[in-house]
Amino acid sequence: MLTKNKLISELKKETDEVLDSPEERYAYSQDASNFWRVENIADAVVFVKNTEQIQKVVRIASKYNVPIICRGAGTNVVGACKIEHGGIVLNFSRMNKIIEISPENMTATVQPGVILGELQKEAEKFGLFYPPDPSNLSVSTIGGSIAQNSGGAKSFKYGTTADYVLDLKVVNSDGEVIELGSKTAKNSTGYNLAKLFVGSEGTLGIITEATLKLIPKPECKNIITAYFETVRDAILAVNSIIEHKIFPCSIDFMDKNAVQTIEKYYPANLLTDKEAMLLIEIDGLKCSMKYQKDVIESILKSCKASAIAISHNEEEYEKILRSRRSSMASCTKIKPNVTTDDVIVPRENLEKLVLGIQTICKKYSLECCMIGHVGDGSIHPQIPIDYSDEDEYCRYKKAKSEIYDLTSELGGILSGEHGIGSEKRKFIGKVVNSSALDYMRQIKKIFDPKNIFNPYKIF
Ligand SMILES: Cc1cc2nc3c(=O)[nH]c(=O)nc-3n(C[C@H](O)[C@H](O)[C@H](O)COP(=O)(O)OP(=O)(O)OC[C@H]3O[C@@H](n4cnc5c(N)ncnc54)[C@H](O)[C@@H]3O)c2cc1C
Repeated sequence: MLTKNKLISELKKETDEVLDSPEERYAYSQDASNFWRVENIADAVVFVKNTEQIQKVVRIASKYNVPIICRGAGTNVVGACKIEHGGIVLNFSRMNKIIEISPENMTATVQPGVILGELQKEAEKFGLFYPPDPSNLSVSTIGGSIAQNSGGAKSFKYGTTADYVLDLKVVNSDGEVIELGSKTAKNSTGYNLAKLFVGSEGTLGIITEATLKLIPKPECKNIITAYFETVRDAILAVNSIIEHKIFPCSIDFMDKNAVQTIEKYYPANLLTDKEAMLLIEIDGLKCSMKYQKDVIESILKSCKASAIAISHNEEEYEKILRSRRSSMASCTKIKPNVTTDDVIVPRENLEKLVLGIQTICKKYSLECCMIGHVGDGSIHPQIPIDYSDEDEYCRYKKAKSEIYDLTSELGGILSGEHGIGSEKRKFIGKVVNSSALDYMRQIKKIFDPKNIFNPYKIF
């Protein structure tokens, strides 16, 4: 207790804003993941204002040997911000400046607390575009999305966060600032340490500044929707679009359960009697839009799609997108707790994955709203449950493990964009071999010999 008091008084001396009441520490000890109850809480929450304060906090944490858990918006869904061994939560909401947008270099240099959607809006003022778009982009931070290597629907055409990180400034375990990349458009100068930090879930160091690649903003965008009598027909249509070498911006999938649930929460006039729905976003030069639409429409027709429609204006486009982005929230209409997952297979095995997950959920009498960025082979089974129902929770755990086994059998991996955190770490060995895991552990030790940064996450 004495040590804890000393820790907090040192933090208060060296920084401006420290929360230490039990209620406040509790509030910052959970994230958007689906763990049952909060078992451990943080020792303190520090709202850092600049790099110097971060350096001081690292030195204090090192002196008292307590963990540092970085926190953006706390919206990761894998327990990456879960407090397991006490420690200091670092909050970056006061470090939310867009330092520079350079139209000449087509880059943005930002602090970690910048909201992703805000960066997109600012970049658009220069006719530029930052494509990573997790569905919660209106709250998700740049620091958090780099640390989780967030993707989103548009990753089919534009890639994930990793494809846009050029340079990072980070505070290391000695409290020193190091630069891990360059502001140049490409870089083959030694190991790519900036990319190593992408997806590292706050376990290697603290990102204090990021320089991100921007691309020209597509001139036009539009969304096509189509419905299918079977999941199989929908997946065949995805493959057929891709085989025709048409490159939509995104190809998203929703099964009947997902569409019905969304309609209860956010009515968008989606058809609720079809087994599957595809949402296909196209973008590019104005002169290309009709061609893309016509080709996709004719492929969809040949794949037994019905009610094919295209948005006619920004309002219709936004309404459809918002309905898709509401899918997780809408599951609260079914049960009090919403769980989501993120499994991905080579596209050729997508149908087996979707049908297999449906069978597993049926076997364990669980409801499942299935959505996915199927252009990538990525599926998010959202299983609404009631944690207070022990039997249901037990069935849910078994189903999860079987979904991971199936994914592994189909040559897939456990996350394409959400990360591993604490939720999936016991399963990572199902898809990553022990030698590769050993290298990961050694890398962690090199960057963080005292195991201070978000300890025991990922593996
Ligand atoms: C409704 C909903 C929809 C979602 N949809 C998608 C989707 O479509 N695609 C997708 O990829 N993800 C999606 N996600 C997951 C989520 O968007 C990402 O994980 C997200 O980008 C995390 O951002 P955050 O600011 O909330 O980070 P947090 O959850 O606060 O943190 C995530 C990780 O980043 C670390 N971290 C934060 N800041 C720093 C820093 N400065 N330095 C080092 N480490 C740091 C944390 O320690 C933690 O390990 C969704 C989540 C929700 C709730």
